[in-house]
Amino acid sequence: MVVRMRHTRAHTANRRSHHALKAQTLAKCECGATRVSHRACPSCGRYRGRVVVDKVKQAESKAAKKSAKGGSKSEASKK
Ligand SMILES: [Zn+2]
Repeated sequence: MVVRMRHTRAHTANRRSHHALKAQTLAKCECGATRVSHRACPSCGRYRGRVVVDKVKQAESKAAKKSAKGGSKSEASKK
């Protein structure tokens, strides 16, 4: 930093007065879960009453991935 670019503490504080983080706006999904507004529901995958994320398929693929990974891991631990 060059001395020429230096601001006073007041100038820095004034600029940073707008840097505060805001709490996320939470909404309630029709399934009863709390979700972040303008985002799909993490528990049922619905957005504005329409299913946009296939949660069942996602869980299946995740389980398949886990079993494939866990199988190799358990074999390694046995040895
Ligand atoms: Zn939901």
